[in-house]
Amino acid sequence: MSSASGPENGNRAEQTPSRRQNLWRADLVCPAGSPPIRGGAVLTRGGRIEAVGPEAEVRPKGPPVPDRNFGRAVLVPGLVNTHTHLELSGFEAARAPMAEWIVALVRETRGWPPPLFLSSSRLGAIASFGSGVTCVGDISASGHSRVILSFMEMRGVVFSEVLGLAPAEADSIVRQRLPSADGVFETGGETGGGAEFLRDGVSPHAPYTTSIPLYRLALEEARGRTWPSATHLAESPEEVRFLKDGGGAFAEMHKALESAVNGFDPPGCSPVRYLADAGVLEDIDLAVHCNQTDEEDWELLTRAGAAVCLCPRSTAYFGHPFADAAGMRRAGLRLCLGTDSRASSPSLSLLDEAAALWEADPGLTADALLEICTVNGAGALGFADEGVGRLTSGGVADFAVIAPPPGAAEVALADIFRPGAIVRTTVSGGIVRFDRGD
Ligand SMILES: [Zn+2]
Repeated sequence: MSSASGPENGNRAEQTPSRRQNLWRADLVCPAGSPPIRGGAVLTRGGRIEAVGPEAEVRPKGPPVPDRNFGRAVLVPGLVNTHTHLELSGFEAARAPMAEWIVALVRETRGWPPPLFLSSSRLGAIASFGSGVTCVGDISASGHSRVILSFMEMRGVVFSEVLGLAPAEADSIVRQRLPSADGVFETGGETGGGAEFLRDGVSPHAPYTTSIPLYRLALEEARGRTWPSATHLAESPEEVRFLKDGGGAFAEMHKALESAVNGFDPPGCSPVRYLADAGVLEDIDLAVHCNQTDEEDWELLTRAGAAVCLCPRSTAYFGHPFADAAGMRRAGLRLCLGTDSRASSPSLSLLDEAAALWEADPGLTADALLEICTVNGAGALGFADEGVGRLTSGGVADFAVIAPPPGAAEVALADIFRPGAIVRTTVSGGIVRFDRGD
């Protein structure tokens, strides 16, 4: 327990965890999944939310509690960046077609020593908290980002990435690359709650790099350990081409990287259909990108129970056609949002990602967009039961406070997705992780 950062009565809410109550107020509080509250407040104790509602109803009777009023700002659940690669946050890639970009990325990071992955991951975690993100779906090829995320108490799933197109190598890849099932996360943070924050997952990379036997083995491991799973799927026209006849830019990429591809047999169908027919789609929790998909694919994804994570700015970076997000919504797919890595995205800001999605799908309401940025991602990562992605009594005290750009006195939720909106404060587990001050 902290010795408190302010006087006991009626002053600023505490910056460090406390068993005492704290009151956080803003002109607009948006719980996600229930209506916005003008003049709202969130009452927390330790790492949990005790109450959310209009200030008059939430403020405890009796002695005053530490209190922080953000004024003209919107308080929302901590944002969930459902797909990123934080260990690549320090990598600046030259813009190139995707297949060439992958070759450059692999050649560069092959030589990275562990400390470089660690510092790169740390950059990503810092940028995430600074962007209002409190929960991530992090893909790790090196295995090093989990050390940083655990230490910094970033909530989320670290998906260990496996790939290899030669079926004969599937078994040895799974044995080498997946962490041991009884691995326990250590935490260097203040609450001693690292294991509660961070969980393991498995990510077979993508159909153009990963054999079906490797998908099967990796997903079998995930099921056995009750770990969530994610895969990149139908990201680019090059992927569609490679699955059609084994040719195109990705064939060149495999040649340049001298990847073992013996035994790969192009299925001649869509990437989604390929995984569905092989019986592995039903074990995928999170399908990332899904840009090159149609109604038939959406039906398969829905039947498989997979959520879809869109990454509009990474898609724009590569110049790929973006998913029909409006069509997916109408088809009933559960959509969430990710920035992908800094190597293909201008920032790790989920709000900027949301602005790009809104431009692509103007029919979205601000409420639906907030759910895509929060509760949908939390559900896809398996954190819904703890109340991640929502502001709800009994749930985790994870939230972000965003100052809208200058304008009308009365703030609206839509303002946080507009250029010039600024993340002022990020709290997770009841602890301030990022703060610009008042
Ligand atoms: Zn990715």
